[in-house]
Amino acid sequence: MLSASHNPGTFCIFHQMPGHNTNDCIRFRHAIQDLNGNKVIKAPPQSKPDPVFKRNPYINTAFFSREG
Ligand SMILES: [Zn+2]
Repeated sequence: MLSASHNPGTFCIFHQMPGHNTNDCIRFRHAIQDLNGNKVIKAPPQSKPDPVFKRNPYINTAFFSREG
């Protein structure tokens, strides 16, 4: 028996079958939560801000344009 939320227009990658979106897959969410609880999946590292000379190449130009 199909659940009330069954939607043939969607596809679950976790179950490899249509019926619901992967984002709506309860089993998939539980699997991810289990992995998180076991520290298998690490939180992504915080991105460091780029140094000023990378963010603004004009500053480098100011230094090297004084040759000659
Ligand atoms: Zn699923």
